[in-house]
Amino acid sequence: MVDIMRIRGIHRVQRMTRHLRRRFTPKALILLYHCIAEKEIDPWELCVTEQHFAEHLEILRKHAQPVSLAQLVEAHRTGKIPNGAVAVTFDDGYANNLHNAKPLLEQFDVPATVFTVTGYLEKRREFWWDELERMLFRSDTLPEQLHLNLTGNDFEWNPRQSAVGEKESSDQGLGGDSLGAQSRTRLSLYYSIWRQLQPLWEPLRQKALDEISSWANGAPLIRDERRTLLPEELLALEKGGLVEVGAHSVTHTLLSVLPPAVQRYEIHQSKKHIEKILGHPVRGFAYPFGAYTNQTIPLVREAGFTHACSADDGTVWRGSDCFQFPRCDVKDWDGDQFAKQLSRWFRN
Ligand SMILES: [Zn+2]
Repeated sequence: MVDIMRIRGIHRVQRMTRHLRRRFTPKALILLYHCIAEKEIDPWELCVTEQHFAEHLEILRKHAQPVSLAQLVEAHRTGKIPNGAVAVTFDDGYANNLHNAKPLLEQFDVPATVFTVTGYLEKRREFWWDELERMLFRSDTLPEQLHLNLTGNDFEWNPRQSAVGEKESSDQGLGGDSLGAQSRTRLSLYYSIWRQLQPLWEPLRQKALDEISSWANGAPLIRDERRTLLPEELLALEKGGLVEVGAHSVTHTLLSVLPPAVQRYEIHQSKKHIEKILGHPVRGFAYPFGAYTNQTIPLVREAGFTHACSADDGTVWRGSDCFQFPRCDVKDWDGDQFAKQLSRWFRN
């Protein structure tokens, strides 16, 4: 009994020491953005307007220490993280990162990294979650019954009866304004279908999207503001040296549901594809949906990446794992809200 008490005491001291060391050690943040564009329907709150993004950058320039992710990785490696350093990252590879975000990054001289999904690079289209949104929201009326068979299971939705009341069916995604009962019902339908599509492998998901598209009376229009980057735009992003490109898998499938051989393909192939376009090594990876398993990290390391980012909130300090760097998800806040959130993140 005495030994158990002693061991518990030692563990408590070790926990406190770690907590104190972390509290008083230099800390940095990695910010996570997606779209820099005007909001329409935005089910996952991925859009930050250009106005708000400019306000964020101004605050970073005045009150923080903007660094590139590569600089932060090097500082982490040498154990010399500059306190208050902030690295800006974008996930997915939206064309608006080049056309809307880059000019502002240049104006405020803030470096950034864009983690790109490579399977969309030659396709001039929207990501599947955006396509789904357009299919469900573009027409005034939808047919009554949607039936899908997904991996052997039957699913049915009736757009006119989709239940509202789940967490996601609140004002999230509607820009805080009520768009009326029909939009709420469509949003509820969107989340419900999205949840079934998210864990699917790409070919099955694409088949389901094709079926939804014909059910909803036609393929979605491609919005230039929401489409994915093209290879020449990837080159243009890196021009000037302020923006760096990283990999974000081939198909943006949950790696945690894939067998190791398919995970390996998603990780290795996305690196090779970007390197072929850019002509230089790609060092950073971001896990799609922030999800990974114990099998994923060795595969990322084996592919030759030097670091990888999750989507978990947290600060980067010298004790952080460079293959599980936390990132703080930025919403469409104005400058004041962003400044408050920034100091909240640094305090945690
Ligand atoms: Zn992503």
